[in-house]
Amino acid sequence: MKDCIFCKILNKEIPSKFVYEDDYCFAINDINPKAKKHILVIPKEHIESLNSVNDFDIVKKMFEAIKKINKQENISHFKTLINTGSNAGQEVMHLHIHILSD
Ligand code: AMP
Ligand code: ZN
Repeated sequence: MKDCIFCKILNKEIPSKFVYEDDYCFAINDINPKAKKHILVIPKEHIESLNSVNDFDIVKKMFEAIKKINKQENISHFKTLINTGSNAGQEVMHLHIHILSD
């Protein structure tokens, strides 16, 4: 998707270090962390928000990725957050799950 920050990161148009990657999603450190560890888990397919999800297999894949990322990053106590819609604080219109941990 043109003009989508996360699609640009996936396509290497914007440099960013991937913390994790599989066939379905990838993860990066949030540029403006709101906790000591703040990771974003992002599907490779451009899906605007949770409201746009038709096949919830992708959400399952994202949570499976979270488990692997947390093991890799030594995270056991954490919060997950999905902002859906601009009035709920969604700034990037490409589905993502925040992992927040101190
Ligand atoms: P949300 O408000 O749920 O849409 O979250 C978007 C998140 O993306 C915010 O926490 C931003 O700090 C983060 N963000 C925006 N641009 C980048 C970027 N280039 N690299 C990493 N994180 C970003
Ligand atoms: Zn996108």
